[in-house]
Amino acid sequence: MKKHNFSAGPCILPQSVLKKASEAVINFNGLDLSLIEISHRSKDFVEVMDSARALALEHLGLHNKGYQALFLQGGASMEFLMVAYNLLEKKAAYLNTGTWADKAIKEAKLFGEIVEVASSKDQNFNYIPKNYSIPADADYFHCTSNNTIFGTQLKRFPETDATLVCDMSSDIFSRVLDFSKFDLIYAGAQKNMGPAGTTLVVIKESILGRVSRAIPSMLDYKVHIAKESMFNTPAVFPVYVSMLTLQWLKDMGGIPAIEKINNQKADLLYSEIDRNPLFKGFVTENQDRSNMNATFNLTNEAVKDSFDAMWKEAGINGLNGHRSVGGYRASMYNALPLESVQVLVDVMKELERKS
Ligand SMILES: *Cc1c(COP(=O)(O)O)cnc(C)c1O
Repeated sequence: MKKHNFSAGPCILPQSVLKKASEAVINFNGLDLSLIEISHRSKDFVEVMDSARALALEHLGLHNKGYQALFLQGGASMEFLMVAYNLLEKKAAYLNTGTWADKAIKEAKLFGEIVEVASSKDQNFNYIPKNYSIPADADYFHCTSNNTIFGTQLKRFPETDATLVCDMSSDIFSRVLDFSKFDLIYAGAQKNMGPAGTTLVVIKESILGRVSRAIPSMLDYKVHIAKESMFNTPAVFPVYVSMLTLQWLKDMGGIPAIEKINNQKADLLYSEIDRNPLFKGFVTENQDRSNMNATFNLTNEAVKDSFDAMWKEAGINGLNGHRSVGGYRASMYNALPLESVQVLVDVMKELERKS
């Protein structure tokens, strides 16, 4: 029996996608060749790249709207510096909501002046700062839509004229948003889309070309766009699996359909955390709680050993919290079925009965 996989990343992918991907490793498209032993310039792989890029834009409602989708390497962490390299001339504004935002700020500081418009670092990032203002002369504003480690999520994005850049690594394709408000979105594949090794970058082309510095080819979004995301050998397997996941999502009814299920999963778990006296949530305000990563702890450490034994016994994997938060983290990405959340909630209820 497959485990109930609550891992934060790399994480669960749809079982049907894993099956197709494993078949393609042996015999891709009936070619009697493996996907990973053919040229990335072959017609069969170029089709994969083209359809992965098209599906990403289609899901986000950004097809034919001046956006380009790229599948790059180096992880979301590479985008921390690529964003600044390509967009930061003088000054940029950043919202600091967690470890990843903090790292993005650190990289961007190498390229210009960074204004941290607000930060929740004072409370170990257990809330989303509100009521900040973005300097009018900022080259762009950068935020993190979902804070994977702390379990907070931006439910609203600031109304701003500034170029809007967002790290959506851990909640892309999970909820309906007006994606056309964003000028650049990036997301490492391994949270909600595919295996580690590729990063989706969606860029409004008109924001490029504004900085005066020379940009090395591999770090230049314009080069990757001109080469249709094939400037050098792309991560063929991660791109293929991402394409399969995007196809799976489309067959399910797209983002609106998955959002409904994601809301059900989050409601089910958070209701139990709120109801069960043995548990408490990490995030202080309910409106800031993430639908992807729920962070919580026990109110009584004496039952920790029993709880840990019980969820492992129930076939649950990946529930331990990040070391900077402690406690537990249940990651409920798109591919996690509602039944897995029910199994966890049943264990929590059982713990209460036994205690
Ligand atoms: C995991 C994660 C990252 C880092 O991704 P890498 O691909 O490991 O570089 C960045 N931002 C967010 C929000 C993440 O969840």
